[in-house]
Amino acid sequence: MPQHIVFRAARAALEDYPSNLLEFEKRFATDDACRAYLAAMRWPEGFRCPRCESDHAWPRRAGGLIECAECRYKASPTAGTIFDRTRVPLTVWFHAMWLLTHQKNGASALSLQRQLGLARYETTWMVLHKLRRAMVRPGRDRLRGTVEVDETYVGGDEREVRGRETYTKALVGIAAEEQGEGIGRIRLATLPNASGRSLLAFVDASIEPGARVHTDGWEGFRGLKAKGYGHDITSVKGSGDYAHVVFPRVHRVASLLKRWLLGTHQGGVRPLHLDYYLDEFTFRFNRRTSRSRGKLFYRLVQQAVEVDPVHWTNVAAGERQRRIHN
Ligand SMILES: [Zn+2]
Repeated sequence: MPQHIVFRAARAALEDYPSNLLEFEKRFATDDACRAYLAAMRWPEGFRCPRCESDHAWPRRAGGLIECAECRYKASPTAGTIFDRTRVPLTVWFHAMWLLTHQKNGASALSLQRQLGLARYETTWMVLHKLRRAMVRPGRDRLRGTVEVDETYVGGDEREVRGRETYTKALVGIAAEEQGEGIGRIRLATLPNASGRSLLAFVDASIEPGARVHTDGWEGFRGLKAKGYGHDITSVKGSGDYAHVVFPRVHRVASLLKRWLLGTHQGGVRPLHLDYYLDEFTFRFNRRTSRSRGKLFYRLVQQAVEVDPVHWTNVAAGERQRRIHN
């Protein structure tokens, strides 16, 4: 059988993911197996040569490349993704993705380093950070319906905070869909400050126009209507209730977030990197009712091949395409 037929047959593996740890370990035991899975994710319709458009290709034995049968163009399933030129074995990346999606609270770099037996903490830290970049796709799947919006402070010393001013703490915007008495999906992002400009940018990035936004009476939220949102205001002062009663969803999310940062991550998250952690928290929270953890793993791999590569120094510096601008 010609080799390109073999490669095309591998496409059938799409929509397919391991349902338990044994299956996972059997299936992703080698870098080649991981790479084949990434190729199926990357080219769900099958590989088509970007140079000559031929769909005849075969895997090369060396380097995990795919070679066009017509013009010999060579493509790498990992080029242009977060796995681009990685020195970390793909089996390690895959294990990290499995653990991130199967452990209730994800994983800290330290716990992952132990579980995977990695020599360097820095390597584990970087793998986790790159994966977090694949967890929330900015601008997609914005929230709908009626959405509670508020801000909260994360980190630092509670006593340093007065009103809406912040010192060592990071200000985090929280948007939570009202779903009956419960919470639907959420979006989180660090905010440079609580100005109307920051808040409106956060709402714009997180919520579909036309949705109803439910806030307190803070003047920063003026302007929502002009942006095409419905705006319900409940003044916490005037209602005689505490904010956690009037806005139970955002307060529930805030307390779960803080518990996770203090518990799993021992409060060791620097404000510079906080957005990545918010993305991870959001990824897991929005899929908390998903019956299949394997599907979560599948989704993470899928998004990981869609995300642009990022250099290690940029990860360390906390650089990103910020969703919220001052
Ligand atoms: Zn070609």
